[in-house]
Amino acid sequence: MSALRILTLFGLCATACAEAQSLPRWQQSPEQIRSTASQVRAGADLTPQAWPNFARVAVGLSFDVDTELVWLEDTDMQSPSTMSRGEYGARTGLPRVLALLAKYDIPATFFIPSMSMELHPEMVRMIKTDPRHEFGFHSYAHENPLALSAADERAAYEKGIELFVKHVGSRPQGFRSAAWDLTPATIEIVKALGFAYDSSMMADDRPYMLISEGRESGLIELPVEWILDDWPYFQLDWADGQNSMRNADDVYSIWRDEFDVAYEEGTMFILTMHPQVIGHRYRMKMLDRLIEHMKSRPDVWFATHAQIAAFVSQSNK
Ligand SMILES: [Zn+2]
Repeated sequence: MSALRILTLFGLCATACAEAQSLPRWQQSPEQIRSTASQVRAGADLTPQAWPNFARVAVGLSFDVDTELVWLEDTDMQSPSTMSRGEYGARTGLPRVLALLAKYDIPATFFIPSMSMELHPEMVRMIKTDPRHEFGFHSYAHENPLALSAADERAAYEKGIELFVKHVGSRPQGFRSAAWDLTPATIEIVKALGFAYDSSMMADDRPYMLISEGRESGLIELPVEWILDDWPYFQLDWADGQNSMRNADDVYSIWRDEFDVAYEEGTMFILTMHPQVIGHRYRMKMLDRLIEHMKSRPDVWFATHAQIAAFVSQSNK
């Protein structure tokens, strides 16, 4: 075992790793590259033998209600018109999403930057109308943790949790990083702040244990995937020649097939959407069709992410 590997295992590699990572890739040793690749790893598959009431699959619908904050990261995207795109999520998209969930009588998880709650406190009241819905933590103001030191990252989350508690009335159980980007320090910070699960990583389709710095973190991962996110399909990107303005039928067939295989495998289906993206009329018709399809199959468990993480944790004790 190399000295760097030993340092990494004991969480002492900050300086050594930084030096190794600053070298051109071709000059790095296998140990140096491995230390970068394995800062956070997937541990055991935690899929339970059976889901509650012997359901075949757990379905967790999540909505990242980023409102204006997702645009404020970019200093070129702060015009009133761009802000109105975020406002659409709070004002128009979210009520449509909540009405659809009520139509099918299913719960969901809402990951909301705490500052979005401050800008739109009416969203919290709307979501609370159905007490089954879960509020998840999604940063203070959608800051990208990669731009922060470990100390600042922790301070930002502490500030965000304080604001979250002011609006929601309790601490969050679930963490989802803004832009799904984690730093090497994120898992340890999130664990120390008392979260039960993370939902930002992509090493599997099934729930798994997060390994951080070579050790089981105790944090359950409910993995996400860009395939199962509305943003890359639908969010307008001029640089991409508007390829992102996809036909809803294309996206329906991808998501339906993803669900069907999850059903066959007896695992889990986590879908991430944004009310400012999915909340447009023709896309909501597609989501309605998808939920109808999932509801037409027997033994599907619709649950919040916190319920799935709690069941997974209980089943693996
Ligand atoms: Zn977000």
